[in-house]
Amino acid sequence: MFVKSGEEMEKLYEKAKEGGYAFVASNVAEPNIMIGLVEGSERKNSDLVLQLSRSACEFAGNGDAVAGLEAMGKYIEEIAGNKEVGIFLNMDHLKDPDFIREAVETGLPSSVMIDASEESFEDNIEKSKKVVDICKDKDVLVEAELGRIKGTEDDVSSMESYYTKPEEAVDFVERTGCDLLAISIGTQHGVSKGTDLDLRMDIVEKVDRKLKESDLERPLVVHGSSGLTHEQMRKLSRKGVCKFNKDTRYQYEYARTAVEFYLEHEESILPPGKSGVSSEPFNEDGWSPNKDHFDPRVVSRKVRERVSEVIEELNKVTGSQGKSLYI
Ligand SMILES: [Zn+2]
Repeated sequence: MFVKSGEEMEKLYEKAKEGGYAFVASNVAEPNIMIGLVEGSERKNSDLVLQLSRSACEFAGNGDAVAGLEAMGKYIEEIAGNKEVGIFLNMDHLKDPDFIREAVETGLPSSVMIDASEESFEDNIEKSKKVVDICKDKDVLVEAELGRIKGTEDDVSSMESYYTKPEEAVDFVERTGCDLLAISIGTQHGVSKGTDLDLRMDIVEKVDRKLKESDLERPLVVHGSSGLTHEQMRKLSRKGVCKFNKDTRYQYEYARTAVEFYLEHEESILPPGKSGVSSEPFNEDGWSPNKDHFDPRVVSRKVRERVSEVIEELNKVTGSQGKSLYI
């Protein structure tokens, strides 16, 4: 089912934190990815956190972010409606308070992320607090970020990474009132190799300990986790990380699945020796394309299945499989 409640989502993360497991919050760049994620999570009895960035909403709405969010909300409702597991929606990496207000007004997201991490500490607090105020009494959780993550994701880009300073975390959470805290521990947005990262697991431990000591325990979030190894994810899940953001991995699986399929069937889609647009593609001499291969639904089904397999495996790695709150 499509759960639209911050209160329910809070239970999800609380249980994960107690149990030392985590959710892979999965970005939906386009609908086939969403369908694959829902299928795979249902198979593993894992609840699911979907994410939409503003640019994903704009893509769905052909330029109109709010229309795109509403359209995706309806689509998620249709696909998730008959599933037993809980499917939640988070708004990823938002910056504009007006759009945050509009997104919250749709009643679709259970949480929103305000990313003011490139601002100074004080400005980050001010902006994040403003979003907490917007979401107050709306049954929507707020994720804020402290520290900075290197790399590019949608329109968010940073050349450098700044590790979160554990000593700032208590002050930040206390003054913003955020519900989830995203921290920078050396991961990167985009393509990265977990084995090459200077991953600071000690920061997770320190932040978690300091928040607990101040009675401000929060689910911790790690962005840019597409390159993390399974072992790194398992360890982080046990140390207090309840949400790993993944976007790049699904984008890659989409492209890889499509390339493999089209290369395999190149001869039934491209006339021999020809490329580019043909004004009469069905009237080539001695050659006809094969609809079994060029029908976009054929490759899309393969993308859905591949994404399902990926989230099934990730649910196993982070430990969320078999732990749905609703089964
Ligand atoms: Zn991110």
